[in-house]
Amino acid sequence: MKVYTIVVGKLPNCTYVIENDGAAILIDPAWDLEKIYEILETQKLTPKAALFTHGHYDHLTNASKLLEHFNIPAYIEQADEEMSGLPVKYLKTFKGDQEKEIAGLKIKFLHTPGHSPGSTCYYTEGLLFSGDTLFPGAVGRTDLPGSDNAQMQRSLERLSKLPPDTIVYSGHPYGSDGGAATTIGKEVKTNPFMRLALEDPKAFDEML
Ligand SMILES: [Zn+2]
Repeated sequence: MKVYTIVVGKLPNCTYVIENDGAAILIDPAWDLEKIYEILETQKLTPKAALFTHGHYDHLTNASKLLEHFNIPAYIEQADEEMSGLPVKYLKTFKGDQEKEIAGLKIKFLHTPGHSPGSTCYYTEGLLFSGDTLFPGAVGRTDLPGSDNAQMQRSLERLSKLPPDTIVYSGHPYGSDGGAATTIGKEVKTNPFMRLALEDPKAFDEML
């Protein structure tokens, strides 16, 4: 198994390609489809599914074209389905936590609302794709329609219980080093938002 990080769009966002035995899972494929196609072609990978961490436009702009191009299913939590505007034809909407086998990998879908009602983190083999729930040194905004501070606090508490060596691949390269990756252990120790969420939920709510 191998993970390719592709930085796309103007914000920018991160699209991830998880490779396993020649098959691929795409996390939040968006914006610069040619960059995504190039990795798939050069590495000779067959995409099996697209997993969306949530329904905000910056994680799925142009995704419809990609779904059509490969004719693959698109997974998204039901609470974010409508705002995503993804074509129903490809949608595999789910509700809450799930466990599915895709491209030969067991993927745990962890429903982690807070940034958006349908925000979901995807966990496989010691890796967590956290979308806009958890970033290196930060957490997702909760001032948007459908955001919820209390839900974000509970979601962060939940993620904090994953093994400390879990590698986190987040939805934007917002880290102080310009990267999008971190570990659960590092965030539990050093992320001020995560620490406050764990130690003082009331103060966390007031800070956000
Ligand atoms: Zn978002």
